[in-house]
Amino acid sequence: MRVLMIAPPGAGKGTQGALIAAHFDIPHIASGDLLRDHVARLTELGRAVKEHLDRGELVPDTIVLDMVRAAFIAAKEAGGGYVLDGIPRNMAQARAAYQIGLELGMTSNVALHLKASDEELIRRLLARAALEHRSDDTEDVIQKRLALYHEVTHPIVAWYGERGILVSVDAMRPAEQVGREILTALEVMRPLVDLVPESARRPVDLTSLGAAFGQTPPERRH
Ligand code: ADP
Repeated sequence: MRVLMIAPPGAGKGTQGALIAAHFDIPHIASGDLLRDHVARLTELGRAVKEHLDRGELVPDTIVLDMVRAAFIAAKEAGGGYVLDGIPRNMAQARAAYQIGLELGMTSNVALHLKASDEELIRRLLARAALEHRSDDTEDVIQKRLALYHEVTHPIVAWYGERGILVSVDAMRPAEQVGREILTALEVMRPLVDLVPESARRPVDLTSLGAAFGQTPPERRH
């Protein structure tokens, strides 16, 4: 299973990415963790990206795409699956990652979109700030990361919809519930991904299930 995740900061990419990786026994490729590790080890790359991370800005695409290539090659040797967390974050990265995937026979089977409202995301990120002391979890930088998500990352969701590999889930609920829904959806899709061509698939929107069962849909869940 090859999965990529698109989600605003605080939606639970890290938690759900780890769950998917453990469940399918595949590598969890988390760009933020890889970059923070470089910063902590004071590598040349770490020094080059530290300011971007601290300010909540994106690091240059070339850095991230080098990571994707290296990670895809390693994942291919490790059995062919992966869960990509934090990449792509803009349209250029989405197209380039797809090209790299095509070249290596490692394109994603599923683009998993986690939706949550800005209010909930800010609440979670501020709560995390009190516990983890991440340098980018201050209120100003959180607002900036969210704005950047809406501006450059969210628009790529539609592109995956057109490619037929999009699965959207409601990430406002407790992590265990969201995780159960994700694993159920992925397990259902697993036998199909290699059989049904992308062009014959349709986006799957699990966020409307609540409404189907009588819940009022929330106004703004990106
Ligand atoms: P979050 O989703 O909470 O913002 P991440 O750990 O995914 O956290 O990312 C932290 C930071 O790492 C981002 O704000 C950005 O500076 C950098 N980063 C991670 N992935 C990318 C990417 N694909 N392109 C550019 N910058 C990235």
